[in-house]
Order: sequence, then C-alpha cells, then structure tokens
Amino acid sequence: MKIQFLGSAASEGIPNPFCRCDYCQKVRSHPGKDQRSRSSVLIDDVMLIDIAPEFSQQLLREGLDACGITDLLVTHTHPDHFNVGDLYARMEGYGLTIDNPLHIWGNDRAINGCMDVLPGYSDARFIFHRLIPFVSVESGEYRITPLLANHAKWETCFLYLIEKEGVSLLYGHDSGWYPELTWLWLEGKRLDGVIVECTYGQHGVIRSDNHMNLATVFAVQERLQTIGCLHPGSQMALSHLSHTGGLLHAELEAACAGKNLTVAWDGLVINLAEGGCHDRH
Ligand SMILES: [Zn+2]
Ligand SMILES: [Zn+2]
Ligand SMILES: [Zn+2]
Repeated sequence: MKIQFLGSAASEGIPNPFCRCDYCQKVRSHPGKDQRSRSSVLIDDVMLIDIAPEFSQQLLREGLDACGITDLLVTHTHPDHFNVGDLYARMEGYGLTIDNPLHIWGNDRAINGCMDVLPGYSDARFIFHRLIPFVSVESGEYRITPLLANHAKWETCFLYLIEKEGVSLLYGHDSGWYPELTWLWLEGKRLDGVIVECTYGQHGVIRSDNHMNLATVFAVQERLQTIGCLHPGSQMALSHLSHTGGLLHAELEAACAGKNLTVAWDGLVINLAEGGCHDRH
C-alpha cells in the first residue's frame, strides 16, 4: 500500500499567511520540509483521504491529475479537510475525460456538504455513501472501517482503518486522544501503518480532546504497542502540524529519534508493502 502525503499542515497551513511569528518567518525564508500545505493523503494513487484547499496544486506538484481517483474518504468537514467545491470540476461538461464515478464516503454532514456544492450531479460522476461508526464497508479491493475520533463538539469525526491484501493502515486524525470505544475496537488489530496528528507540538496537555501534542503521540504509540497493534515492521508517521506547535521539522525529528516515528512532509511516500519509506524530494 502506497501512502503519498499531499499535505501535512493543520488548518492554517505553514507558514500561516496571517502570521509573522518567529516560526512562520523562519519557514518563509527557508523553503523545504517546513513549508506545509493542508493535510491529505493519496493511497495507491486511487483513494484520497480528505480534500485540502491546495488540492489542485498538491497534485500538480506531484506530477499527478485527479482522473484516476476512485474514492474520497472524508474524516470531517472542517475547511482544511473539506474543500469539496473543487469537486465541481468533475461534473459533466467540466471534467471532459471522466468515465467512472467518484465514490465519496463520510458522515451525514459531509455528504450533505457535497450535495450543496454539486447541484444536479449525476450518478455517473458521483456516488455517495454515508458511513456509520465501526461498520466496515468494501470498495474494490479495500475494506474501510470508520472509527470514532475525539475532535469536534458537534460532529461525528472519523478515523479510518483501511485494509487491502493483508496490509492495514490506521489514518488517525484529526482526533485528540482516541475515545475508549475506538481503543476497544483496535485491541489486537495488526496495524502495518499508523498516521497520527501532532497539531499541538510541544504545547498543550497530554491525552487532550480535539488535537494531540507530541506527548500524546508517544502515549498513543505506547498504547497501540500494549494492545498488540504494532509489530517490528509497523510504520508510524505524524502529520497535521501547526506553527503554534513550536517545533520545526528537524526539531520534531530529533524529538522522535529512536521512537520509530516518521515526521511527515509534503511529498513523503511511505510504502507499507515494502516495509520502508523513501524521500521524494
Ligand atoms: Zn484539521
Ligand atoms: Zn506563525
Ligand atoms: Zn478538524
């Protein structure tokens, strides 16, 4: 299973255009891994998780187009994850070479949000699936299970367990410290890949609601280990980073040294089938 990070920032992006803090100023003058667009990943070139505000530019940067994407999984409808207005470009008369529908998976709020911006869509272009927490569904070779996150007060936000040909990925953000129901469901599940958020960086408190900091990421890794989810080949990466977290890429890497934790960047590819990852840039 190939996981391509299209973006790795939290809601403001890094640098935040409305900020001149030391972090943002440093990132402006040093192009590289610290410049981050909003979080999204592409799996095996066909399954997109969340659609970021920079979606078009992310694909262009990676030398890709969106025509081969068959599935869109939505974690929740915060604007940094839910730029569904861009899907209008896939409507009849706009996407001129589309010959398959895009399957869109999410909670009821996500589905209704898509309906708002895709008036008059046809089933030849879009097929919607409303997901229920902990109920697995199949799409092609993939088995998808939405798990509960602990993120927004008035929305049922999802984490996703994605399985294909014996390989499994937990896409675990935006999340906060996972709800007990999710921990119970995960017990004993073998995870080859785990992607978590680290929005609060070195700030915030451990096991908080809404978002995670670095201490919480370590605690998640420890608990996954304790409940039998991780094996020596499991790969874990952190993403969804904010300038308010205080740690630059190199500092995050140093903080994660020896912990089998990869700090994601825009363009990182992790190949779970091969059990290794490589730098794209
Ligand atoms: Zn977010
Ligand atoms: Zn800033
Ligand atoms: Zn969010």
